[in-house]
Amino acid sequence: MALEFAVEPNPAPASDEGVAEVLRAPGFGRVFTDHMVLAKWTRDNGWHDARLTSYGPLSLDPATHVFHYAQSIFEGFKAYKQPDGSIATFRPAANGERFIRSAKRMALPALPVADFVAASDLLVRQDARWVPSSAETSLYLRPFMMATEVGLGVRPSGDVTFLLIASPAGAYFGPDAKQVSIWISEDFTRAAPGGTGAAKCAGNYAASLVAQQEAIDNGCDQVLFLDAVERRWVEELGGMNVWVAYDDGSIATPELTGSILEGVTRDTVLTLARDAGREVEERRIDVDEIRKGIESGRITEVFACGTAAVVSSIGRLAWNGGDVTLPAETPVAQEIRNTLVGIQHGRLPDSHGWLHQVP
Ligand SMILES: *Cc1c(COP(=O)(O)O)cnc(C)c1O
Repeated sequence: MALEFAVEPNPAPASDEGVAEVLRAPGFGRVFTDHMVLAKWTRDNGWHDARLTSYGPLSLDPATHVFHYAQSIFEGFKAYKQPDGSIATFRPAANGERFIRSAKRMALPALPVADFVAASDLLVRQDARWVPSSAETSLYLRPFMMATEVGLGVRPSGDVTFLLIASPAGAYFGPDAKQVSIWISEDFTRAAPGGTGAAKCAGNYAASLVAQQEAIDNGCDQVLFLDAVERRWVEELGGMNVWVAYDDGSIATPELTGSILEGVTRDTVLTLARDAGREVEERRIDVDEIRKGIESGRITEVFACGTAAVVSSIGRLAWNGGDVTLPAETPVAQEIRNTLVGIQHGRLPDSHGWLHQVP
């Protein structure tokens, strides 16, 4: 049965001028809209008490499970203003399905996809004035779920809270984005066989931060993780999947091994590149193949993809004892990025039915 959402409008919403000022330079994840969606789950009663309410702080007991044992998952997708003034989200059901897979891995309850999409429709509709309309901007949606049973006993929580918040997002790196530099982490791994790498869980991010700091200390923007067993196979960045483009126009991305997050953008790029007639491979990629391929010119581009930054081109790879620079010309990443952004903003035909009109 579909969840019924009670609607409690914010009695003191931001002023129109206040919203306009935020939308002029939204940044990423800094300012949140007037409302949020909340729902409760208990082992006895299932999902209940779903409502749209004012955005604001939560009050939680210090012994709440999530603070201690990190039983927590999240999602991220975006709503885009369309040329006709309507608003559409991009593949929200794909995120809803992944949310269920992440929940299963983290012993959390499944929120039905229809309720997940209904919650996002409700919030986007209520906070429609927070959806920016200038080029490359969007409203970023952040659903998350956490263990809210109180007590220190270690077991799957019998009390869970779902929340959905939203934040206007600007061009992550801008249209004339600089290329990002990547540190190849040889000391730290992100995910091991049998671990939680394929789940979008908070703990994966906690575990990646020290490697991210190592990247920054070495003058790089982001970290690239290798597999945990051989430290040889390229997996992904801390929050983006990775691609390699070859001099014959083909592209490749690491195959899903169970320790790589199954990005919706990754899946979208796979489809778009095949539509464009490119040869696309999902396979294991040896980090040495990348280093040598860049030096020989066989590899012409390396790029990363994810919801927040869409497609970002990588200009330099560095590791303990070496580095290699990539060409500044990135026609493949540009073509894929332009096609994807064009579909999201309703400027190119949506032939795969990826846009969901917010009713
Ligand atoms: C969210 C995420 C991605 C990108 O997924 P999208 O669905 O494309 O946004 C890639 N890697 C990790 C580790 C992630 O958490």
